[in-house]
Amino acid sequence: MRGTLVGCGFFAENHLNAWTAMRETPLEGVELVAVCDRDLGKAEAAARRFGIPHFYGDAETMLAEQRPDFVDIATTLPSHRALVELAARQGVPAICQKPFAASLEDAEAMVRACADAGVQLMVHENFRWQHPLLEVKRALDEGWVGKPFFGRVQFRHGFDIIANQPYLAEDERYIIMDVGLHLLDVARFLFGEAGRLYCRTARVDPRVRGEDTATMLVDFASGVTGVVDLSTATKTEPEPFPECLIRIEGTEGTIELDQGYRLVLSRTGHREVRPVDAELLPWASRPWHVVQDSVLAIQRHWVDCLREGREPDTSGADNLRTLELTFGAYASAETGQAVVFG
Ligand code: NAD
Repeated sequence: MRGTLVGCGFFAENHLNAWTAMRETPLEGVELVAVCDRDLGKAEAAARRFGIPHFYGDAETMLAEQRPDFVDIATTLPSHRALVELAARQGVPAICQKPFAASLEDAEAMVRACADAGVQLMVHENFRWQHPLLEVKRALDEGWVGKPFFGRVQFRHGFDIIANQPYLAEDERYIIMDVGLHLLDVARFLFGEAGRLYCRTARVDPRVRGEDTATMLVDFASGVTGVVDLSTATKTEPEPFPECLIRIEGTEGTIELDQGYRLVLSRTGHREVRPVDAELLPWASRPWHVVQDSVLAIQRHWVDCLREGREPDTSGADNLRTLELTFGAYASAETGQAVVFG
């Protein structure tokens, strides 16, 4: 399978490492044949470092010349719609990084373009592919808590993410658009679809333009009451970044994903703790390793889905539901009212 990649910036490093690892595993049978960045120097540097035969400064030329089996779009939000629609026009299946789109209308148009062209579309929504979160899901599906009635998905830290992603400081919409959507996607993955959401936000750090803390109360159709809360302004020790912490309570017991990647399964009179840290891949480094492992997992899922002709778990169509909650959170924060879905 011949892949291509657009956008050779900060996070693409993880995509490039994961595609390289897959190329070096003969059974996977997938390789990147070309990379592209509108900054040609970055494309050339990535091609050199990762042994990729071709590099381009323009995605349209790359897709036209290479006729690849897929394109992996790892650029920032403003370019996503144009690049996904380009892939659809050229009949090339596409992966698109999050945030998938700037509005629900854009997202729907992108999903429609790919559906009309008959090409697969997956959003690189990698949080639910994090090993510790997959273990939480497994314990939930195995019935540890019985019928769940409460679920919390939390991501609070004080790590300086602006240092690596300076564009985030300029965005009017910051933390919900950058990380809140991951957490809402994880909440959907664990608890199903949401019927109602209420959100409060605040800006604590004066260096950023948008909100840097958000607290959401979500009613799920499954009967779970959810709390989704996040912050990049939390000063605490040990620093929890980039751990997503979970608490699920049900009729029979409780599942907690605690700091230090500890899965705690408890019931009255019983408690067990399982280490659920991800493998430290040869190209990975702490504290990023769980995220890096999830990039490899989602890329493998994409290749499996393409081969088997099935829809990826985080397809463009699936991501519409996550974006509905994301934009709903902003609407709720602006109006002070709960937002009702479906
Ligand atoms: P970045 O600015 O470091 O890199 C983006 C690159 O894309 C730049 O090199 C830019 O020149 C290139 N580019 C932009 N538009 C282009 C176009 N039309 N054609 C060709 N090249 C183009 O950004 P980043 O920090 O790597 O973020 C990229 C995306 O990854 C963002 O959407 C971000 O939200 C996402 N991200 C995801 C995760 C995750 O865990 N899933 C983590 C961090 C970042």
